[in-house]
Amino acid sequence: MARFVFDFDEPSEGGRELLGGKGIGLAEMTQLGVPVPAGFTITTDACRAYLREGGMPDGLEREVAEHIERLEQRTGKRFGDPDDPLLVSVRSGAAISMPGMMDTILNVGLNDVAVEGLARSTGNEEFARDCYRRLIQMYGETVDGVPHERFHVEDDVARAREVYSAETGRDFPQDAREQLRRAIVAVFESWNSPRAQVYRRTYDIPDEIGTAVNVVQMVFGNKGDTSATGVCFTRDPSTGEQGLYGEYLVNAQGEDVVAGLRTPQPIEEMRERLPEAFDQLVDTMARLEQHYRDVQDIEFTIEEGHLYLLQTRSAKRTAAAAMKAAVDMTGESLITREEAVCRIDPSSLDQLLHPMLDPHAEFEVAARGLNASPGAACGKIVLDADTAEERGKAGESVILVGWETTPDDIHGMIQAKGVLTAHGGMTSHAAVVARGMGKPCVAGCEGLELDKGSGAVRIGGHELHEGDVITIDGGTGRVIVGEVPLVPPQINEDFETVLEWADAVRRLKVRTNADNAEDAAKAREFGAEGIGLCRTEHMFFGEERLPVVQEMILASDEGGRRAALDRLLPFQQSDFEGIFEAMAGLPVTIRLLDPPLHEFLPPLEEATDERMRQRIKALSEANPMLGTRGCRLGIQWPEVYEMQVRAIARAAKAVQERSGDTPCVEIMHPLVGFREELRRLRELTEQVMEEEAPGLEYLCGTMIELPRAALRADEIAEVADFFSFGTNDLTQTTLGMSRDDAEGKFLTFYLEDGVLERNPFETIDQDGVGDLMRIGVERGRSAKPGIKLGICGEHGGEPRSVEFCHGLGLDYVSCSPFRVPLARLAAAQAALKEGKRAEYATAGG
Ligand code: PEP
Ligand code: MG
Repeated sequence: MARFVFDFDEPSEGGRELLGGKGIGLAEMTQLGVPVPAGFTITTDACRAYLREGGMPDGLEREVAEHIERLEQRTGKRFGDPDDPLLVSVRSGAAISMPGMMDTILNVGLNDVAVEGLARSTGNEEFARDCYRRLIQMYGETVDGVPHERFHVEDDVARAREVYSAETGRDFPQDAREQLRRAIVAVFESWNSPRAQVYRRTYDIPDEIGTAVNVVQMVFGNKGDTSATGVCFTRDPSTGEQGLYGEYLVNAQGEDVVAGLRTPQPIEEMRERLPEAFDQLVDTMARLEQHYRDVQDIEFTIEEGHLYLLQTRSAKRTAAAAMKAAVDMTGESLITREEAVCRIDPSSLDQLLHPMLDPHAEFEVAARGLNASPGAACGKIVLDADTAEERGKAGESVILVGWETTPDDIHGMIQAKGVLTAHGGMTSHAAVVARGMGKPCVAGCEGLELDKGSGAVRIGGHELHEGDVITIDGGTGRVIVGEVPLVPPQINEDFETVLEWADAVRRLKVRTNADNAEDAAKAREFGAEGIGLCRTEHMFFGEERLPVVQEMILASDEGGRRAALDRLLPFQQSDFEGIFEAMAGLPVTIRLLDPPLHEFLPPLEEATDERMRQRIKALSEANPMLGTRGCRLGIQWPEVYEMQVRAIARAAKAVQERSGDTPCVEIMHPLVGFREELRRLRELTEQVMEEEAPGLEYLCGTMIELPRAALRADEIAEVADFFSFGTNDLTQTTLGMSRDDAEGKFLTFYLEDGVLERNPFETIDQDGVGDLMRIGVERGRSAKPGIKLGICGEHGGEPRSVEFCHGLGLDYVSCSPFRVPLARLAAAQAALKEGKRAEYATAGG
């Protein structure tokens, strides 16, 4: 039968998946000879079996008992001993780190008698009582669900026991083995706590992997002035700078640092205070970074001068720090360029593209705190997570302001633009979580006072209330009353370097979706290699244009329509000129008008006259998404597309004459399902291009956004120079789900209830939509091997989908300007992953 429990120094095959991040770290450190406390890991297999069976799997209790016995031998102490008891911590630890989301219980093994023994053996009665009080409170909260606020840090043992009994109807359990068994169960159960579930959904962590449980000999950072506990990083997790970075507290236990209950001291201070332990720590940090070849986040405890490492893991870091560390480590020959490229999470890049305070703005700083997570944000003060969630979802900009945050605030932090706390250090919950989310956070702001009851907030000398606007700058720790203008961020050298390395290995080209010159220019700054989708309908909406568009729609005959279109043409032409100029000869795919015409008319009750009312009624459709739109419009009213093609041709000619760069024009027809549709539209396109710009090279192609188009891609390819997968519509039509009617409604329920794992409108549904894409690619290429293939649905800027498109062999992805760097990196990672797989296969793996 498979084993469920492994000592830290026992080899196991399962690695991180089986032992969890914390467990594998402890095992590896033990094997490296780093000082860690003794203990064992209960595997994720055991947790999965527990969750499946709803109870302890067979054999687990016996194995735990055996390993406790071994631990007793190793430490020379006995579990439950009344004189000098062995105490353990019971800690969660999933394969993917979920900081603070699951439970941990310390000091398991203490009871009314053993506490006296501990007091005697340590000669420190206060310490022993403190340990016992902590156990009763943590155990009460975690194992028996006693509400957090019932207990107080100032309670003594007697008071904690009273609360425990009053809340649970039982005395605090005295049997160490019972405490251990129930603590293990509580950690298993905490896998499914609401906050852990929210966290997993946010970070895309699968629900079924479960957590491991580590049972670790307790070592004490609270045994007086030569004891301490702390957290440190081998490089600064905010900036990536090399150097000592961390915090510690003398005479304290671990959760004091993480929970921000006491404000810790900078680690540098330890050099003087605990010099030997300090030197050993610095030396161990260097060894761990060399071993793991990555920035480490280390938890340690010093018990009466002896250093113990409790945990090491890859440090969570801001995107800027990830960039700097990756570039520096490449320079130090610790990792290769390819590894550096793979080290950066593409979705974290937008952190670097965050706004900052306008350097020219004048403002008064009301208070200062720690610069806990970079970026700046303005918003209304809200004082609790539920309100932050509600208002954030309603589209308001809010800043979550509080004494500190806890894992239960995660839903509010997700919706807030930033977080401001009065308490806590750089490793407090608010700081760690905000950095992970890429949100600005100012923590430990001493000038902030709160009265939650009345909603009053005092910042520096200012009396404010919930709802008042403030600005925070998480890069410097400044807090300002009122709104300060923000500017887009600067992209630094490390960013450019990593992206250049990415460009050197990727195969997919990256274009952008842009329908004006400004976005096009921005996207080029971010490295876009062309426009993959220029939606022309947005150009029909401006103040001067909409009335003309309406006139065109309301015209009773073709003559009337043409007269209006003639007036629209110059607008379109000048828009196209701007875009061609911005793209300076790079390919520009222009999609002709797509939405149903009623979108350009007001609602029926706002019709200005009878003619308009009649037209609105006539254009009204039961399912406009599946109605008269896209090429169906172009075929019925060819004069509309004719005007657009004419505007494109004239713009191209004008720009060519002006700048000398010949625009690379690609004309795209939307919503094609039948070869005949595209054949006719191609004929029209060629005719107008010939009239307006004879000799100008251009491509004429189509979007593949209907299942039929993918299935009949071979026929369609005969009349297309390129395909661009419109996965927004292709997802809607393949799944039979209207995005507007799905998101926030039944699809949200599906995701929460586990019917679907991922939102198919965010990441390609590879089995369904993806399969149709594969068919489209194969059949399209079978008819026309050189056909150009791309994607311009929103999925083109989502890392998982980019990888999928790489695998399909598309030529490019196209996404919004701010996602271009992300797509460049994701494309590189996809190429490197594929290379790795190929290497593995060649090596006979
Ligand atoms: C698509 O359908 O994927 C697409 C890009 O077109 P739109 O979103 O404009 O319908
Ligand atoms: Mg579409």
